[in-house]
Amino acid sequence: MEPIQSLRGTKDVLADEINYWHFIEKKAKDLFSIANYTEIRTPILENSSLFERGIGSSTDIINKEIYSFIDKGSRNVALRPEGTASIARSFIENKLFSQKIPQKLWYSGPMFRYERPQSGRQRQFNQLGVEVLGSVNPLIDADVIQLALNLLKELGITNCGREVNSLGTLEERVKYKSDLIAYLQPYEKELDIDSQKRLYNNPLRILDTKNLKTKDILNEAPKLSNFFGIESQTYFEELCDALNSLHIGYTVNEQLVRGLDYYNHTAFEIKSSSLGAQDTLCGGGRYDELISQLGGPRTPAIGWAMGIERLLLLVKDSISLPSQYLDFYIVSENKSTKLKALQLLQIFRNHNFKVEIDWSYSKFSKQFKRASQNNAIGCIIIGERELQLNSFSVKWLSSKEQDSFQMSEIEKLIQKLDYYKSSYLKIIDNIDTQTLNKKF
Ligand code: ATP
Ligand code: MG
Repeated sequence: MEPIQSLRGTKDVLADEINYWHFIEKKAKDLFSIANYTEIRTPILENSSLFERGIGSSTDIINKEIYSFIDKGSRNVALRPEGTASIARSFIENKLFSQKIPQKLWYSGPMFRYERPQSGRQRQFNQLGVEVLGSVNPLIDADVIQLALNLLKELGITNCGREVNSLGTLEERVKYKSDLIAYLQPYEKELDIDSQKRLYNNPLRILDTKNLKTKDILNEAPKLSNFFGIESQTYFEELCDALNSLHIGYTVNEQLVRGLDYYNHTAFEIKSSSLGAQDTLCGGGRYDELISQLGGPRTPAIGWAMGIERLLLLVKDSISLPSQYLDFYIVSENKSTKLKALQLLQIFRNHNFKVEIDWSYSKFSKQFKRASQNNAIGCIIIGERELQLNSFSVKWLSSKEQDSFQMSEIEKLIQKLDYYKSSYLKIIDNIDTQTLNKKF
């Protein structure tokens, strides 16, 4: 029978990677907590119309990438492609606007987009993100961008490109769109196929095309910033001033439009040149109209999202985390010594030791080898002799030293284990990113 395979664009996270996930999740959680964000967990499944209304029906996400289906109750539902629309829905549904403002929220979890899988691009992927709902001020935008950069720094990822742009207001964009279409129309046949498709329904997206010929045509195109009124101009200037005063380097990229309809004013991306074609680590921006568009009270907001798989590619390359380890691996020889081992295991677990028993009856040398494969700090040996004396021996794998303990001498054992543990490995919680950062 053919074994069943995982779906294209989905991935298992196995033992060699899980420590990196925990590392990223812990760093993020600690940082968000210090910055006074609280976690929000929204359902993975939502009404399709939430994303159609929230993200915009002419975007790639809705047009091509959404995982939607009719459920058994004939509802049109979708696996969430991103976090912001769901959080906006939850903000309205749970009347979070009547609680403290701004609401500073963070989330982490799987997202789904039907895309062509490649390095850094999956169909089920994970995002970490934040949203600040209820306040508008370019200084908040700068603080939110700073938070993203701080997280990357905590993960040892520096040297990122930061691009910012302003998308102005909805009204300014409407005027700009018609001018842009008028400019591009004479070149319609010369545009790449994707841009031709976007010309009438989402012309702004043409600006971030990768096609060289289309880029050439865009050189002389009208600029969105020329359509800005005084409010948009000042907002962007104040953002740039704030970034400067925080010593955050950035470039202004007027072609940066982002793939979602809901942004206004600030849009930004953080990129890493080590990632190849899928180089965007983090994307975000301000979305002051989304919540009112979804039927809530007008609530200005800003947020960003990072792709965890892309973070992982960088973190894995640069940091070596210790794999799983054991305190003790119990080696024993026959039925009666294994029974003793089983009793010891319970005692050890009650004392928070991480212990594994070798259940085989293979030679001690083989069992020792497996102890090393399990990254054990010590091997507990229970042979016939130990059984008679109601004791056990410990072989410390790093020094090959051997000790003998009475069953009652657990305190003495703890002391000795602590000594060997500190010299043997540093566990994940103790990793000092200050020293890690020096490696980059
Ligand atoms: P891209 O241009 O790479 O498609 P996007 O603009 O569609 O990105 P956003 O919607 O802004 O991406 O999502 C924020 C982040 O989530 C991205 O910068 C990226 O790191 C990650 N991301 C988006 N789509 C995927 C995917 N299919 N697989 C893995 N990570 C993804
Ligand atoms: Mg995309």
